[in-house]
Order: sequence, then structure tokens, then C-alpha cells
Amino acid sequence: MADDIFDKIIASEIPAYKVYEDEDVLAFLDLSQANPGHTLLVPKADVPDIFAYDDDLAQRVLTKIPKVARAIKASDDKIIGMNILMNNGEAAGQSVFHSHIHLIPRYKDDGLNL
Ligand code: ADP
Repeated sequence: MADDIFDKIIASEIPAYKVYEDEDVLAFLDLSQANPGHTLLVPKADVPDIFAYDDDLAQRVLTKIPKVARAIKASDDKIIGMNILMNNGEAAGQSVFHSHIHLIPRYKDDGLNL
């Protein structure tokens, strides 16, 4: 039984546009696109934030960041950069307490102020 909104996406109980999936992670488009292609990389394990990662989870999740970043970049030749960020804890702006990494493509003169 899925608990939070990302568990429900991982369990395909609610829809998401999937960008990448393997046994450890799912990457899908953020509902609220800071820029086109804004993606969330989410561990399938239900860990709340970076403070709950042990070395094994870090290896299985964080090493996927470059692969997902390349896949997003390859999908649109207008992408010339990418912000990769993670909000950990309410004080840092986290609103969904199933850890996730934002990958936000950047475009020429997009004016995005993160
Ligand atoms: P913030 O909401 O301040 O960006 P987080 O770092 O916790 O804080 O990000 C949660 C992200 O999850 C938000 O960008 C939000 O748009 C996204 N989100 C929430 N629900 C869904 C959903 N059902 N599908 C895709 N993205 C979602």
C-alpha cells in the first residue's frame, strides 16, 4: 500500500510522465515545471530526505544523476545547462517528504531565478 504521493507514482496508482526507471529509482516530470523538462529523480525506497541515506542507498540513487541528466539534455537540443538541487527539510523548502532530486533544464535567456 503506497503512502505518500511519490509512492503512489512509483506504484503506478497515479500517473506521471516517466523519464527513467530502474530497480532503485524512478525519474518523472515535475507537475509544476520550473522550466520545460523539469524532472524529479526519486528513490523507490521511501526515505524522507538526504539525512536518511546510508552509503548503499546513496550509491544506488545518487550515481544515477548523470545518466538522468544526460537523458533529459538529449531530449531537447535547446537545453544548454541544468540546475540539480535537493530540498531537505521544511526549513529548506521541502514539501514532499519522500526524498527527491530536482533536475531543472536551463535555456538561453530563460530568466529563471532559483
Ligand atoms: P517544493 O514544493 O517547494 O518544490 P519539494 O522540493 O519538496 O518542494 O518538491 C516537491 C515537488 O513535487 C514540487 O516541485 C511539486 O511540483 C512536485 N509534485 C507534487 N506532486 C506531484 C505529482 N503528483 N507529480 C509530479 N510532481 C509532483
